[in-house]
Amino acid sequence: MTSLGEPRWRGGQLLSGLLRQRWTRWDQFSNLSRSLRARLETEVDLAWPTIVQSQPSLDGSTKHVFALRDGRQIEGVHMPYEDRVTLCLSSQVGCALGCTFCATGQMGIIRNLSAAEIVGQVVAMLNHHAHPQDRPVRPEQEAEGHPAPHGPGGAGPRTGPVRPEQEPEGHRAPLGPGGAGPRTGPVRPEQEAEGHRAPHGPGGAGPRTGPVRPEQEAEGHRAPHGPGGAGPRTGPVNLVFMGMGEPLHNFDHLMAAFGTLTDEEGLAIPPRRITVSTSGLVSGIDRLGTFARRPRLALSLNATTDAARSRIMPVNRVWNLEALAQALGRFPLQSGERITIEYVLLKGVSDSQEDGRRLAAFAGRFPAKVNLIPFNPHEGSGFEAPEESRIGALCRLLSDSAVPVSVRRSRGQDVAGACGQLVREGQPRHPKPR
Ligand code: SAH
Ligand code: SF4
Repeated sequence: MTSLGEPRWRGGQLLSGLLRQRWTRWDQFSNLSRSLRARLETEVDLAWPTIVQSQPSLDGSTKHVFALRDGRQIEGVHMPYEDRVTLCLSSQVGCALGCTFCATGQMGIIRNLSAAEIVGQVVAMLNHHAHPQDRPVRPEQEAEGHPAPHGPGGAGPRTGPVRPEQEPEGHRAPLGPGGAGPRTGPVRPEQEAEGHRAPHGPGGAGPRTGPVRPEQEAEGHRAPHGPGGAGPRTGPVNLVFMGMGEPLHNFDHLMAAFGTLTDEEGLAIPPRRITVSTSGLVSGIDRLGTFARRPRLALSLNATTDAARSRIMPVNRVWNLEALAQALGRFPLQSGERITIEYVLLKGVSDSQEDGRRLAAFAGRFPAKVNLIPFNPHEGSGFEAPEESRIGALCRLLSDSAVPVSVRRSRGQDVAGACGQLVREGQPRHPKPR
């Protein structure tokens, strides 16, 4: 806004229009003057990723394919629950890390997403599923400024104030010059694929897609509500960066998007409702730990010996298990915060009782909870999920060791929208040598 010669406070109006109203055309910005709208029309390209394909799953989740301006495609998943909605987001087109069990990893890396392309996935999914407009997507009592108090044992940045000087440039204003905002973002909304609904107007509530049936729900999670229910559309929104890509490889754009998504004048999603999953980039984990305002951390562990982990996750050859444990040990946690350890269960690779004992020992070194994720099969992977009895035995072993544990039955499996199945057909693949 300042680059357009407008006062800085107009940025708030802009953010509100873009994220609370989720307007997708400048002529909708009734909170701006007619002349400013006309200037924006010619000078600023308002463009978000566009949903070009949506596949509802039997469990109520919907996998969406987004087209980006350069023709690349990414995927995201909308998962409604009774009391909340979780959106699974992509951070890159492809991924450089080449984990052998992961479909995205087999694509190789094509490019990072801009902050606008990250934020735009949220906007597009909220519009598609007719979430209410004109308000933040979180319950009132979760307003920022009431964070959980820091507990005893808090240290360092944990007790510090927000340190804006550590936040990347362009963190706040999505349309700022040089920022990675909508200006650099992809496809215009009016180019939405045929068959897709136009975004709903203020107060509008379009049809919802997909039946809702949750037989694959994670333990401890409540069933998503049925079709036509009002629950998830009015409940809080959680974001998980567990779609395509390694979010910490796209650190600056990730944090710029985080700043926009948590901004009080926009969606105001509380930071604790945003989780970034990493394969274990220690430099990125350390960097994330320097931010007082940051998303929560999940680590994809997936194996319990260096030999096994290096075989399935090449990144382990750079940062091994001990380096990871030390990075997690020094990661400054807030009171009550736990690091999520994701553990993909691969039959014969990571599912023995010894694995279970080593996993419990690893997770016991810091406040952590474990998510066991039975492998989601995809073509040509060469891996299988363990039998149910084995999954149950591992789960019991962990809970007997006092490690909080759940089994995540990935949602959207019937439409290949589950973790590690996100790969866009027709995009170049650069398979990594195994
Ligand atoms: N790159 C990040 C985030 C995206 S992958 C990371 O690796 O953490 C998100 C999660 O999906 C990770 O925990 C990963 O281990 C898991 N995953 C990948 N492929 C999978 C598959 N085929 N089945 C089950 N989980 C998978
Ligand atoms: Fe990349 Fe994560 Fe897949 Fe590994 S599991 S290839 S880091 S997306």
